[in-house]
Parts: sequence; C-alpha cells; structure tokens
Amino acid sequence: MTPSLRLAVFGDPISHSLSPRIHGLFGRQLGIEVDYRAIRCPEDELPAKLSELAAAGGIGANLTLPLKQTGLRQCRQLDRPARLARAVNTLKLDEQGWLGFNTDGPGLVLDLERLGIALTDARILILGAGGATAGILGPLLAKKPACITVLNRTAARAAGLAERFAHLGAIAGHSLDAPAQAHDLLLQATSLGHSGTMPALPAGWLVPDARVYDLNYGQAHRPVAHWAERYGWKADSGLGMLVGQAALAFEIWTGQRPSVSAALASLDADLN
Ligand code: NDP
Repeated sequence: MTPSLRLAVFGDPISHSLSPRIHGLFGRQLGIEVDYRAIRCPEDELPAKLSELAAAGGIGANLTLPLKQTGLRQCRQLDRPARLARAVNTLKLDEQGWLGFNTDGPGLVLDLERLGIALTDARILILGAGGATAGILGPLLAKKPACITVLNRTAARAAGLAERFAHLGAIAGHSLDAPAQAHDLLLQATSLGHSGTMPALPAGWLVPDARVYDLNYGQAHRPVAHWAERYGWKADSGLGMLVGQAALAFEIWTGQRPSVSAALASLDADLN
C-alpha cells in the first residue's frame, strides 16, 4: 500500500481551517492518500513543530496567521512570490531543509482567470493594505494591469506598499477618502467583513460593468455581496482564492495540480 502523504497546516487559531477538508478533496480527486492535519502553533513554537513534522515523515506544510512572516526564517530558499510578499504560506521539505513558497497571490490570479476576470490593462482598485494585499501585489503586477490603486484606512500603509512595489508597475496608495477615479475591478482585501461591514466606497470608483472580488468568503463576504448587488456589480467571494492557493501548494508537494472548480463545487454549498 502507498504510504499517505504527511502534511499539516500550522496557525493560531486553527480550528476553523478548511485546509484539511480541501486537501482531502484534492487527494480523492487525484487518487493520492493524504494525511493533512490542522495543528495549533503559537509563533515561538514553529521551529519545534516543523521538526516534529519532519521527524514524523512530513513532506510539506501550510502556514496561516500569525506564522506567514515567522516562517521566512525557517526556509533555506524562497520563491519569487514569497520574496515579494515577505511571507510564506507553503513549505516543502527537501534533503537540505525547508523551501518556502507563497501561493496566495498566484492562487488569487488563478481564481480570477477561472472567473474570466481580465487583469492585463485593467484598472485595479484594492481596498486594504494588510498582509493579504502585500501577498497579491507581485502576482497581480506581473499580469501588467494599467494601474493598481490601494486605498486604506491608514494611508501610510497604502503609500508604503505602493513605494515597495513601484518597480513592478504603476501603483499608487491613498487614504479611503481620496477623490474617486474609475476602475474596472475592485479587490476587497480588508478584514472588515468579519465584523459584518465594509469600508464606505463612493460609487464613482468603479465603472458600470466593473467586477468585484472579495477576499473574504462565507459570512464575512455578505456585506460586499449586498453592496455590489445594490449597484448591479457582479461580486465573487474569496473561497476560490483559498482553494486556488491550496491547489498550487498541492502541486508543489505532488507535481499534480488538482481541479479548483471540482473542489469548489463541494465546498460552495456549505459556505456561500
Ligand atoms: P490584516 O490584518 O493584515 O489587514 C487588515 C486590513 O483591513 C488593513 O488594511 C486594515 O486597515 C483594514 N481594516 C481593518 N479594520 C478596518 C476598519 N474598521 N475600517 C477600515 N479598514 C479596516 O489582514 P489580511 O490582510 O491578512 O487579511 C485581509 C482579509 O483577507 C481578511 O478578512 C482575511 O480573512 C482575508 N484573506 C483571504 C484569503 C483567501 O484565501 N481568500 C487569504 C488571505 C486573507 P489598517 O491598515 O488601517 O488597519
């Protein structure tokens, strides 16, 4: 019998994680037996937990909050998205140690492509300048949009990200009350949905046939879904990004890319 692939996601809190379910679906899709566990891990315990996983035959891991930056120090090599994001969400063990990857941004791009949302030459508006935005800017700018505008409650964080990524394309950062300019795509990347609301955004920021994509999913996506419906914009949730980043991690570990659409069909009914 083929031994199962030993994998884990570390974070704190972690009990809410959908990752064991998603990777279980991927394993069944591709006929690969996976033993993927969600393990609570405070920041200072990450080196020990990774050693335990390796000793138990583990070959890969995902990191979620608050470990994505801490994880950088555990990696002997980083892929380009991880270097740009200054964060890792996927680790793979080789003979010399852990290799670090960031599949969050590439996972978002994969999902936007699945949804038929054009990025090249698009004017992209991002609400929020936290860790998620830092993770997606590199892969988005690689698609050569016309421009990216980042709006954030704390204007200095938006401006800081714009400065950090300016060598990759046209990007600006402002406060939430900056004068509106028309954009084709809104990426909602604040955490406000978890409090049942979203930042007030004047309609002038989006063209009439704009697409709206909320990095939040489930209950946290509801405020954006209602707001977009009011203006007649089509809004999608970030569940596809979550599954997309997981599919790319699974491919890093196994060499095989599972179908995002098939996994989403199983999850969607429960969460959206
Ligand atoms: P951070 O905590 O790093 O950043 C939070 C962002 O939300 C900041 O820009 C912050 O602004 C803003 N914000 C928080 N409260 C308010 C408020 N009351 N009014 C206005 N703005 C506010 O979180 P992340 O960037 O890591 O995550 C953002 C969201 O994206 C989360 O909801 C997360 O669940 C989701 N996410 C989804 C993923 C997926 O796979 N679908 C992957 C990663 C994240 P300020 O800087 O002013 O504090």
